[in-house]
Amino acid sequence: MHQKLRVRFAPSPTGGLHLGGVRTVLFNYLFAKKNGGDFVVRIEDTDQTRFVKGAEEYIFKTLSWCGLEPDESPIHGGPYAPYRQSERKSIYREYAEQLVKADKAYYAFELPEELETMRDMYKTPENPSPQYDHRIRMNMRNSLSMTLEETERLLEDKVPHVIRIKMPESETVTLHDMIRGDVNFNTGTIDDKVLLKADGMPTYHLAVVVDDYLMKISHAFRGEEWLPSVPVHILLWRYLFGEDNMPQWAHLPLILKPDGNGKLSKRDGDRLGFPVFAMDWTDPKTGETTSGFREKGFLPEAFINMLAMMGWNDGSGQEIFSKDELIEKFSIERVHKAGAKFDYEKAKWFNHEWIKAEEITRYQEEVKNIFRKRGIEINDTNKLSKVMQSVKDRCTLLPDFYDQGKFFFESPGQWDLDAVKPKWNADKAAFFVEFSEKLKLLSEWSAPSIEGSFKELAAAKNIKAGELQLPLRIMLVGEKKGPPVFEIAAILGLDETVQRISLLLEKI
Ligand code: GLU
Repeated sequence: MHQKLRVRFAPSPTGGLHLGGVRTVLFNYLFAKKNGGDFVVRIEDTDQTRFVKGAEEYIFKTLSWCGLEPDESPIHGGPYAPYRQSERKSIYREYAEQLVKADKAYYAFELPEELETMRDMYKTPENPSPQYDHRIRMNMRNSLSMTLEETERLLEDKVPHVIRIKMPESETVTLHDMIRGDVNFNTGTIDDKVLLKADGMPTYHLAVVVDDYLMKISHAFRGEEWLPSVPVHILLWRYLFGEDNMPQWAHLPLILKPDGNGKLSKRDGDRLGFPVFAMDWTDPKTGETTSGFREKGFLPEAFINMLAMMGWNDGSGQEIFSKDELIEKFSIERVHKAGAKFDYEKAKWFNHEWIKAEEITRYQEEVKNIFRKRGIEINDTNKLSKVMQSVKDRCTLLPDFYDQGKFFFESPGQWDLDAVKPKWNADKAAFFVEFSEKLKLLSEWSAPSIEGSFKELAAAKNIKAGELQLPLRIMLVGEKKGPPVFEIAAILGLDETVQRISLLLEKI
């Protein structure tokens, strides 16, 4: 039995990390942290044809951004290194050979063209894509159909070959899943999967089992899409290491399209205008960029909170959870089986809540960068803090800080004069001239004192303060938006406020 609780996230570096992938990381991480266990990241890069440059780096950057740092990984190191399967190539062959010796696997010598021929030959209307399985294996060129001598000769001559698992003709294999309970599979419908490829690399099926064993993984959580592979993995465990030593499995529910019809894909995001990757991902081959939650302006706190709620809840109706709270409350048994629909509006709601709840210093640098990218360099951090504090309730995504706060850093440039003109008159113009003078004499520059002075003067001049506030807003903001107008003046400072008032007085 396993000593320490150890979980793993085992991505293949084939591209950007999809929502579902990050949620798998999250559930692994929460479970490990809750139970004082280790969170391992193993890179499953044995399929060289699917390898994509930059994908591994992207994965680790994503985990950092989300605050889900592994305890062990190719870049964090650890006692079970190497953590990249391509660097463990020499380990796997002996296990594959062991299976051949035990008559649980066999050598197969077909070239890819021969497999094509097989498919053509055995194709029927009922079975349009025949697989290499117990029905046809004896008609193929492998160590089961050939004599021992023939096989040995081919091996000696170094004829390219793979090793395939010999799936039992009809056996029931039962998975005890922590979320789904018992799930039965019949081995008869499953093909004799390749375990070791002609280039000596293991396939995913062999490598995942060998490495989960060697790395002493106690619990393996992964997406529901891996369920069909389960019987192969269970058999490999049985044949190689004993089912008792197998990790406890949990297959996490799919993340579904917003309408609930099928698995959420990258294309849905492009089509419906929302991100499905954690961070922007640029495909090195096509140069095409798929947008990510980070660049859209999500806080990682909100992103992981939202992901946690896709498939899990604590039963109380609470929706906002910090990472620490999630660690405390998470249990894999409370993850449901049914797929979780992705709802972008809800995702934004989470972000809005987190923007309001989080200390602004936590994400101030990001906001500064957003301004910088759009041509406004902010050096006065103190002012930026005040602006952020003042507009944060109006912000759902981080770029909203730019839209809501830009006028604090540069003069509006355009003014909604139509909002002011109809009720404008000489008295009001005179009011603002006098008001500017009064402002210069204020002993304290704050929203309440600016407001006090404004209302006092309005009363003295017998003009309704309410009728003057809109013009003041247009002077300071350019349009009918923004936080309370005296708060705006307080942040802008005396000089800028007076200047903006006089600028509009000239224009109107
Ligand atoms: N390498 C597999 C993947 O890319 C891992 C599946 C598993 O966790 O067993 O998702």
